[in-house]
Amino acid sequence: MVEDEPAIADLVRLYLSRDGFGVHLERDGTGGLAAARRLRPVACVLDITLPGLAGTEVCRRLREAGDWTPVLFLTARDDEVDRIVGLELGADDYVTKPFSPRELVARVRAVLRRTAGAPDGPDRPRTVGPVTLDPARRTVLAAGSPVQLTSTEFDLLAHLMARPGRVFTREELLAGVWGYAAHAGTRTVDVHVAQVRAKLGPASVIRTHRGVGYAANG
Ligand code: CA
Repeated sequence: MVEDEPAIADLVRLYLSRDGFGVHLERDGTGGLAAARRLRPVACVLDITLPGLAGTEVCRRLREAGDWTPVLFLTARDDEVDRIVGLELGADDYVTKPFSPRELVARVRAVLRRTAGAPDGPDRPRTVGPVTLDPARRTVLAAGSPVQLTSTEFDLLAHLMARPGRVFTREELLAGVWGYAAHAGTRTVDVHVAQVRAKLGPASVIRTHRGVGYAANG
């Protein structure tokens, strides 16, 4: 949990602990991001207005690195809700202050139930439209026929298919698939997307979102 208001932090920690969760608390965004990467929590509860990095920025940086740990935001104002949703940060839920700690615990449990049931575990086969990808065997079927992809092409398609419908920027794909930052050249992403599309042919599920990036859609 990342929250700079001690009274709220203590209350939430108390209720989550009572419910059986181990709670690690950070009081600023920079420490929160580092802790999320170090501790690999089952979920993050992020306040939005924080010293250092804002909660939204912490979430954005986790997602850019391909980290889909469930995130639940605490917002101080109703009008922040539009911003969270509009940012397409990949937030899993939010509660508006003041909130009941019981409700927050229930929301955390619900987020964990939903994400545990999602068919996007790292090794489970994924299907989007006519394309099925098996991460464990590293095989791809397009409309029932095997498709030969290079290692990078496979990783790119797997990254997109892990979150169908979610639009990834070229920078996110560079960080998540190639593992290096955007200055390496986003043109690389375009070239590989074109190759994957050509190999999938009419079954291609990669959609271009002009001015934004790419998504896998059925
Ligand atoms: Ca705050």
